[in-house]
Order: sequence, then C-alpha cells, then structure tokens
Amino acid sequence: MKLINENPWQYLSVKLPMLGAFLLLVVIPALQWALDYQLVPDKYEVVIIGTVLPLLTWIGRKIAQPNLHNVNQFVTVTAGHSNVDPGAVNGKFKEAELVTKFRNAVAHYLKEANIAIKTDGVGTDNQNLNTAIKLIKGSDVAIEFHMNAAANKSAYGIETIALPKDKKLAQDLSKVVAKAFNSKLRGDEGWIDQSQSARGKLGFISNGGLIVELGFISNEAELKTFNEKYWLAARDVADVLIKYKKALN
Ligand SMILES: [Zn+2]
Repeated sequence: MKLINENPWQYLSVKLPMLGAFLLLVVIPALQWALDYQLVPDKYEVVIIGTVLPLLTWIGRKIAQPNLHNVNQFVTVTAGHSNVDPGAVNGKFKEAELVTKFRNAVAHYLKEANIAIKTDGVGTDNQNLNTAIKLIKGSDVAIEFHMNAAANKSAYGIETIALPKDKKLAQDLSKVVAKAFNSKLRGDEGWIDQSQSARGKLGFISNGGLIVELGFISNEAELKTFNEKYWLAARDVADVLIKYKKALN
C-alpha cells in the first residue's frame, strides 16, 4: 500500500461525512438526552446514517474546490527593489539591476524545464514590491532576489529569509548559491527567520515568499564573484526550485 502525501482534511468529500457523523452520533444523542425526547426513533437510526453519510460524500465530491488542484500552478521569481528604487549601490553597480539579471537567469532555466513561471517583469523591467507580492498568491513557491550591504566592507555570505515552514527550502537555496560563489552561509545554515531578521517584518515573506540575499554588494570580492558567476548560481537555484515543485506534485 502506498500513501498519498497530502492532507485528506482539505477535501469536502471527507469533511462533510465527518461532520454528518458528528451530528448523528454526538450532537443528536446529546440533544435527545438534554431534552429527554427521542428526536430520531431507534429503528430509523441505521437507515439515516446509511443514507445521509454517502449522500454527503457525493455532495462533497461534486462541489468544485479549485484551490486544491495543481493545474495552472507556477513558480514566482521576482527581483528586489524596482526600476525607480536602486536598492544598495556600489560604484556603478546597483542592487536592483544585478538581481534583475539574476531573476532573468533563473526564469530562463525554469522555462527550459517547462515550469510555468511568473515574474515582476522581463528584460530590464523590475516592477515594485506591491506587484511582486501580488504574484505570490497561487504560486507553488515565490522567491525574490536581493543583495546585502553593510558598512563593514568585509562582511560577506549568503542567506535566505523565510518563515519557519520554509526553513529547509531556504537552506537549500542558500547552499547552492554559497557553493557557486564560493561564499559562506549566514544565519542558521543559510536560513534567517523573519522574526530574527534585523529588517523586521517583510511584506514579501509575510505573504508567503522567500527572499534570497545573493551576497554583499558592498564587498568588492563578492560583487566581482557575483558578476562572474551569477549564471551558474541561477542555474543551481532553478534546480532547487524544480526539485521542490516536483516533490509537491
Ligand atoms: Zn534589497
């Protein structure tokens, strides 16, 4: 016997008969006891249970639950900041532009693997955070790319900020980027819990997304590595997302 990796409670065809059974076996007897009055004669009990429960199963199966189906699901990849907000800057390099290139590279590899995607723009287009947040709903997974910056120019490393439920995915994403950039993991093996992030609550994460910080733009060596190897890291990030999505379906 092979078990299906999903929660049966999400289906109305499971919920409705359970609710019916609860009414028939708990609520009605309790009422009868409290009122001291036989609402359902004993001889009809089996007949009622035997007809009401299958009927509820049938109704539950018949009602459409579009949110439960995996059709039209997609992966969202977005670039931090926007065409008007450059984010952190180091010389001629702007965070918003670098992470837009990274987003495009990840999108390229996802498309190559026939994964449906949504992005906050194509080419040099990098739409703002509100647009990015709207793309999270309905996606299997949503990732936004940023780069860190610090006054201490030697600070470096990779981290992914996410809710605790996405800890493993966050660590997997940070790991492949750190490996490609020959960098190190920050936080809990690459994961930063949003509640422990110095940035406070981030809209993208509160809405269910993950933010990957692709190194420090303020660190000359890490910036150089980013520019030389971002395609490599993007390919590995796409691989992590493809595996994650396949495991869901
Ligand atoms: Zn940023």
